[in-house]
Amino acid sequence: MVFYSTRSREHTAAAAEAVLKGIAPDGGLYTPLSFETMQVDISALLSMSAVDISAEVIGKILGDFSQEEMRALIEAAYAGKFETDDLTPLEKVGDDFVLELFRGPTSAFKDVALSVLPRLITAAREKLGVDDEIVILTATSGDTGKAALEGFHDVPGTKIIVFYPDGGVSDVQKAQMVTQAGDNVGVCAVRGNFDDAQTGVKNIFADDEQNHWAAGLGARLSSANSINIGRLAPQVAYYFKAYCDLVLRAEIRLGDPVNFVVPTGNFGDILAGEFARRMGLPVAKLVCASNANNVLTDFINTGVYDRRRKFYRTASPSMDILVSSNLERYLFLASGGDFGLVSNLMAELREKGVYTAPEAVMETMRAVFSAGCADDRAALDAIGRVWNEYGYLMDTHTAVGWAVMEHFKAREDNGWVNVLLSTASPYKFSRDVLSAVSDAEPESGFGAMDMLRNVTGVAVPDGLASLRDREPRFLDCVDKDAMLDYVKRQLAR
Ligand SMILES: *Cc1c(COP(=O)(O)O)cnc(C)c1O
Repeated sequence: MVFYSTRSREHTAAAAEAVLKGIAPDGGLYTPLSFETMQVDISALLSMSAVDISAEVIGKILGDFSQEEMRALIEAAYAGKFETDDLTPLEKVGDDFVLELFRGPTSAFKDVALSVLPRLITAAREKLGVDDEIVILTATSGDTGKAALEGFHDVPGTKIIVFYPDGGVSDVQKAQMVTQAGDNVGVCAVRGNFDDAQTGVKNIFADDEQNHWAAGLGARLSSANSINIGRLAPQVAYYFKAYCDLVLRAEIRLGDPVNFVVPTGNFGDILAGEFARRMGLPVAKLVCASNANNVLTDFINTGVYDRRRKFYRTASPSMDILVSSNLERYLFLASGGDFGLVSNLMAELREKGVYTAPEAVMETMRAVFSAGCADDRAALDAIGRVWNEYGYLMDTHTAVGWAVMEHFKAREDNGWVNVLLSTASPYKFSRDVLSAVSDAEPESGFGAMDMLRNVTGVAVPDGLASLRDREPRFLDCVDKDAMLDYVKRQLAR
């Protein structure tokens, strides 16, 4: 399997190299062009466990790992980490289905991929005979950071540094990160928003690409953000798993298409759905759900991507993103691998903050994607209604998806089953979730957690319940221009 940089034909890589590098030398994202060798026989998956489905699907995408190698790797990655062997249970709520992706160690859907990525990176390092320490640099809007720390801490041959926007993550998210154990971890706040932190990390990669300072420190930089293809591949698996569950429960017949509604930020999760579709999964629509930062809603509806707009801090902070990195991969796929087009559009975005995609690309996109947005009020309202009507408790991100799913059903009901991807435990955002289901007024994020449990009786995940007893270890906060220096200092230690 060949992965192409989205920006120029010359930078190709096999899976191990793509996983190790994270981002291509020209700043593009490693993406396959043909899905012919990746076709999945769904009838063969029906009798498989979640781990086996995962190994099968990831193995198809990352072709240079053998089947046995992949099976062992995935088994070890998930063993004992998730609340259920099912990994990603599917719940029926009213007439629709909620795919719970948050049953992992940090209670966010990013655990599904970030449990696997460190092992993929370690395996790739061995395969390619690399001696340098792999240094993971990650910008986080809240959930990736903790999930990456949890995945990489004390993994031999790796170090990880996480940057998060100061004041831009919830109390609980912050506590999860700054209390992280491990000798190879670093956590630092950045004065700015998530886009600043993400741009800062991209600039550090670009600087090393030019000036090669990391090698001098015995290090090689890599990324755990969803720009890494090793991060995307494990996410494709749960689309297949959910589909199998629907067939096995006789909710659909094998071959029936399904709508997936996806709370979206960086366009990684929903792009995994597009990969699944191209690998043979019957998908009717992929519904892209945004919060008040609705740059993707506008893009899908108009073809104009314009990040020159107000940035909102919302109750769904992991979706507070104006530059959705993985959309670049979609533009590449939808244009049939038009390197020139993608690199031009990305240059326009960088330089002018806006671009217009060709109509042909938008037509391809709209045949599969639908888009909508919901603000905080609509999301909190959905949490309250779904709790009252069905006794099902959603987090704020999932609730954005629920509200958008309701609009979608009202606007273009195509009659197929809807699966809403649930991306976080309600307890990660206890304060807002509590405000949606009661009048209680907590003093802190942890107080809110207790009250939410008392009001709803829903169990608190262990990883969150134990947080308040842990001491913060990381108090650093830097300007966005000082991120590079920070990394160099950390590596020199
Ligand atoms: C990361 C995240 C999202 C957005 O996922 P993308 O892959 O960035 O689109 C949504 N909800 C939660 C809780 C997240 O952590």
